[in-house]
Amino acid sequence: MDAQSEVLIENLVTYAVLFLLAIIIVIKYIKSKRQSSAITREKINKAKATGIFEPVSLHPSIDPDSCIGSGACIAACPEKDILGIAGGKATTINASRCVGHGACFHACPVQAISLVIGTEKRGVELPHVNEKFMTNVPGVYIAGELGGMGLIKNAVEQGKQAVENIASSLSKKSGAQYDLIIIGAGPAGIAASLSAKKLGISSVCLEQDSIGGTVFTFPRAKLVMTSPMDLPLYGKVKFVETNKQQILELWNDVITKNSIDIKEYNKVTSVQKSENIFQVETSAGVYTSEAILLAIGRRGSPRKLGVPGENLPKVYYRLLEPELIKEQDILVVGGGDSAVESAMMLADENNRVKLSYRADSFSRIKSKNLELLEEYNKSGKIDVILKSNVKEIKEKSVLIEIDNEIAEINNDLVYVFAGGELPNQFLEKIGINITKKYGEVILKH
Ligand SMILES: Cc1cc2nc3c(=O)[nH]c(=O)nc-3n(C[C@H](O)[C@H](O)[C@H](O)COP(=O)(O)OP(=O)(O)OC[C@H]3O[C@@H](n4cnc5c(N)ncnc54)[C@H](O)[C@@H]3O)c2cc1C
Repeated sequence: MDAQSEVLIENLVTYAVLFLLAIIIVIKYIKSKRQSSAITREKINKAKATGIFEPVSLHPSIDPDSCIGSGACIAACPEKDILGIAGGKATTINASRCVGHGACFHACPVQAISLVIGTEKRGVELPHVNEKFMTNVPGVYIAGELGGMGLIKNAVEQGKQAVENIASSLSKKSGAQYDLIIIGAGPAGIAASLSAKKLGISSVCLEQDSIGGTVFTFPRAKLVMTSPMDLPLYGKVKFVETNKQQILELWNDVITKNSIDIKEYNKVTSVQKSENIFQVETSAGVYTSEAILLAIGRRGSPRKLGVPGENLPKVYYRLLEPELIKEQDILVVGGGDSAVESAMMLADENNRVKLSYRADSFSRIKSKNLELLEEYNKSGKIDVILKSNVKEIKEKSVLIEIDNEIAEINNDLVYVFAGGELPNQFLEKIGINITKKYGEVILKH
């Protein structure tokens, strides 16, 4: 064999080896894609079986014709298993767990994602608002998540825009206490209050809980994803990835510096109109105004027990940071997953926990929670008291009725999880029309 043929054969062998390697890589790639598709499909089937596949609120909708399966949306989503890849395209998995913060929407390199509310199967009820954010009740406006648009940035933007529209419609001659009453101090209500101050509108913001709205309830360690936004009387907020503490500090700072009137722990119970003035009834008194902005989000109001002592500062309706609560006598009230999960979290922190439920069994909770609760009860980590009703809450104890007898138990903290009043019920009482949305696009490129 001459030298030229030797080189040729050598080259052929090299090419053959490279070709084989390329084939192996392609086969491996296809195999891994198939595997991950199978995993995603399995997760979807499980989500369907457990009822968490169908979204309940704002969620991504992927256009399969545009999706290139880059996975950028999955990487951007801060929650787990909301999205996955099947058949080379992105798809939703546990869509009902989506909180609608839309990181996927911005991350998609080919703009294949839109944010949608409701699905063909599962409608979502939303109040009707016009392009000026006004409802069918003249003088009552809506901004933020209540109108269907989630995310902090959108709520801020809508709060601002709604007040700009309200400003141009005010007579300022109604004789009411305020030009505008803003209900809810989440991002929409805060931005609206700042906007009102900037535009010289007299306003008060009434909040049933604490400043910050849903953001206040985020876990301390949660990564908050947002986009740069304009906050009235502050300017550009440049956060993209931040945490709850940083946002709350900024809001509280701008609220204090501008003497914004936000009344916390002031739940609005009714809004009525008489002679062009709104009467707003709250847990702390009645206020009047010419216009109303509802910025109450979609979480609703926790249901209260209605017993003496319930307004003591040791009574809570949500559990924010269980890791900070130790060695306390705690009563958790309720029979749903939130009550049971909270009781278990508190018991894990070395607290002495009693769980009171008025029924004779926990029929509404997930089977996994039921199993765990039985273990906690058996091991004495939680004292489960069925068929019981709280009668009175005192500084250091609680009176509780068990089998028609009243017992007094030691108590430092009470957590009530007795369900809640949905915002729609509140809106209906005001006379606001509500329609069901079956997959309406809220945000698209
Ligand atoms: C777990 C979770 C994670 C999220 N993560 C992000 C994220 O990373 N980035 C992002 O941009 N968005 C995120 N969001 C969404 C974001 O929190 C909401 O879109 C935003 O807070 C909506 O603002 P809002 O002002 O419309 O309503 P809310 O923030 O819900 O505020 C409404 C306020 O109204 C008050 N209220 C209700 N009823 C009454 C009443 N009758 N009287 C007085 N006050 C009342 C409530 O107490 C509440 O304070 C997340 C949501 C959740 C649930």
